[in-house]
Amino acid sequence: MDLIVKNAAEIRKNNKKKILSYIQTHDCVSKKEIERKTDLSSATVSNLCNQLVQEGFLSVDSKQKSSGGRNASLFTIRDNHKFYLAVRVIDERELNVALMSFEKEILHSFDVTIQEEGVEAFIDSCLCGIRKCVEAEQDATGGILGVGIALPGIMENEKECLINSTIPYLESQPVLQKLQERLSGFSVTGANESNILALALAKRDYNDLTLQDTIYLHVDEGLGIGVICNGRLLLGSHNRGGEINHMPIGERGRLCSCGQRGCVETELSIGGILLDYSELTGRTSSWEAFCQAVREKDGNACRILEEKGRILGKLISILDSVFDPCSFYLGGQAVDLFSELSVYIDLEYQKRFRLDKSPQMAVFPCYEYNELLLKGCADLVFDEFALSEN
Ligand SMILES: [Zn+2]
Repeated sequence: MDLIVKNAAEIRKNNKKKILSYIQTHDCVSKKEIERKTDLSSATVSNLCNQLVQEGFLSVDSKQKSSGGRNASLFTIRDNHKFYLAVRVIDERELNVALMSFEKEILHSFDVTIQEEGVEAFIDSCLCGIRKCVEAEQDATGGILGVGIALPGIMENEKECLINSTIPYLESQPVLQKLQERLSGFSVTGANESNILALALAKRDYNDLTLQDTIYLHVDEGLGIGVICNGRLLLGSHNRGGEINHMPIGERGRLCSCGQRGCVETELSIGGILLDYSELTGRTSSWEAFCQAVREKDGNACRILEEKGRILGKLISILDSVFDPCSFYLGGQAVDLFSELSVYIDLEYQKRFRLDKSPQMAVFPCYEYNELLLKGCADLVFDEFALSEN
């Protein structure tokens, strides 16, 4: 395509995205309101809204003005016309596939068993879930914009393979490519789970189409992070921007899989926390039992909790100095102890905060992880495929 034509198409697409993003969160809006919120000219808004109506994204309705003047056209998202498919991994043997409305409400959701540990069985289960969603809402098929998948690892840029996967059998596998090969009819996209969460949280708190700078920290089997900086998802040159797993701020000098000692992931992951607790008590313990012991104020459990809260506080202080976000969110299993941990996170942060900043760090729990992950997958599909022009 001619470069000028291509650039014009790109600008048109971005402007349409702006308009749709605004209407998705504000029902029934006038042209004037869209102009004001998107900073687009009256002619551009008219033209693009007409196109979006023709393409089936918007409905237009007119409403008598109370002043008795000319009717104002009000735009709204057209009901049941465009949809997303979203896939999230529950664990090594189960995944969840959902059909979502254009406004990102879950319409149908199916948990699918992965019959055996292997990438082909994994793809089979994705396809099975997608088929169930399509069968549940047969009228939707023509309006499905694509499939978004939350990946339990990082997409390696050059080879397009999954690396640092929390699901071992998906390590080094070209998951997206394999799913796309076997799925005719829908386009597939995907991103790292923590990045999707950071985007979904920043979009949920959307203010006038600007993404708030947000950091999402996932403390679970592994340690994950998603960073929105200057209103954009931080990816870096190799899709590894912000990766914190091997930051040497651990206090116990544990040997990490990378060969070094003291990497923060060895001490802040759920496995690491339970290992430290079992060393202290002389017996192994489940996460649920550890949480219970903390709530019952068991001395050993509280000691471990304080240590982990302080390390988390250190980590958050470092991230705060580097990225200066508006808010942090903590998710993953560690959120079960959010209120207990946040006391120590706060104490550590108070010691280290810079004088020119507020001493109150905004750290919030993220409880609605599963739902936000699906919404984030829908956001990915929206960004990549909703407005593709041929
Ligand atoms: Zn390491």
